[in-house]
Amino acid sequence: MFRSAVSPVLSIAKRSYSNVAPCIKLFIDGQFVDSKTTEWIDLYDPATNELVTKVPKSTQKEMEDAVESNKKAYETWSQTSVLTRQQLMLKLQAVIRRDMKKIAQNITKEQGKTLADAEGDVVRGLQVVEHACSAGTLLQGESLQNISRDMDVVSYKLPLGVTAGICPFNFPAMIPLWMFPMSLVAGNTMLIKPSEKDPGATIMLMELLNEVGCPPGVVNVIHGAHDAVNFICDHPSIRAISFVGSDQAGKYIYERGAKHGKRVQSNMGAKNHCIVMPDANKETAINQVLGAAFGAAGQRCMALSVAIMVGEAQKWIPDMVKSAQSLKVNAGHEPGTDLGPVISKESKERIHRLIASGIEQGAKCPLDGRGIKVEKYPNGNFVGPTILADVQPTHECYKEEIFGPVLCVMNADTLEDAIAIINKNPYGNGTAIFTTSGSSAR
Ligand code: NAD
Repeated sequence: MFRSAVSPVLSIAKRSYSNVAPCIKLFIDGQFVDSKTTEWIDLYDPATNELVTKVPKSTQKEMEDAVESNKKAYETWSQTSVLTRQQLMLKLQAVIRRDMKKIAQNITKEQGKTLADAEGDVVRGLQVVEHACSAGTLLQGESLQNISRDMDVVSYKLPLGVTAGICPFNFPAMIPLWMFPMSLVAGNTMLIKPSEKDPGATIMLMELLNEVGCPPGVVNVIHGAHDAVNFICDHPSIRAISFVGSDQAGKYIYERGAKHGKRVQSNMGAKNHCIVMPDANKETAINQVLGAAFGAAGQRCMALSVAIMVGEAQKWIPDMVKSAQSLKVNAGHEPGTDLGPVISKESKERIHRLIASGIEQGAKCPLDGRGIKVEKYPNGNFVGPTILADVQPTHECYKEEIFGPVLCVMNADTLEDAIAIINKNPYGNGTAIFTTSGSSAR
């Protein structure tokens, strides 16, 4: 029942229907609005490639209307007390918690990740709403008495105005929830452009904002791709942009937004490394490396995509392969699934290309997930867990973010050599070490 062609998880009232597929709505001034656009983006279930919904490319007028609504709402919202904003967050966290499973089902349908991962997606966002409930202390300024004779200095944290959030596809609930709760609680209003690949969770969060009494225009949602992004970067009334996504888009948005005098934060791509020391607990290390490499089909900015095996730990690769082979690849809503599909056919092709280039450039491939067949879902974008061994820093599969279930394994003789490899890589976001030695860990 969960996999019917028309998504049952978004409430029908919030979608319009053509005879082809439901269309996702815009959210402007507290209303769910049908777009008047003639340009649509088809959104397919990654497990079946059946059409789930159509996403409008918002028209110029719709985007203008949204910012006008944000501007108007800012006049009163910025004057509300901190405690009023905090109350809104307290109510919001309760309804998100109540609807967690419903939102997670929508995420699995549109994005493909397992239901457990989808719930984690909502939980991580919920934690930011909970954090925003401490507005009373978060928004405190500073003061210094007598900086000079008879002179004190005080600083206040004041709202900026209309802000905007541009989101990626991989955490459709968590990332909008990184953005609008903090912006709102600080007295700003926000325009959100969710990923065109899975905007459903954002729209469900807007239903919840309405339910808890958020005034119209405090948050608005437009849909689209590059044109909507350019609109946000250029609009003179938008004062700040929060972006999460790939390097390519992030650098572009940073430059274009900054050129228009905006504050821009760009959180971009990653290549997370870990070091596996020979004194680590072998079973724990293997389980944790594989969970972090292949969870959410590797489509996490914190996915562990490179493991550097030090000394004797290099002998563990066959056991690592054996454990990875036991991971279950299936549609995200099927019980017992470890890895769901990747987001799109294009993404699957890109991942295949990077695996092939690794092999061509000299890496070994003791586990190749390219040929995986998932019997019940023959049309899904599935890639099985893949391990590339003997990877070198010059390989394309090492230099690029793969963003799929591919673990690059490298070798180093010593901890120092392994750290040197990591420090030469231009990417973040994080690193890990598996060891039982306190000094190695430090
Ligand atoms: P993406 O960059 O393709 O898309 C992100 C947003 O930018 C979307 O809303 C999209 O419409 C827009 N966009 C895409 N290309 C654009 C372009 N050329 N010009 C203007 N706008 C553009 O990213 P994605 O594929 O949706 O998400 C995956 C990426 O996000 C990965 O690189 C991942 O590491 C990164 N990510 C980073 C973090 C972090 O905290 N650093 C967190 C999550 C995801």
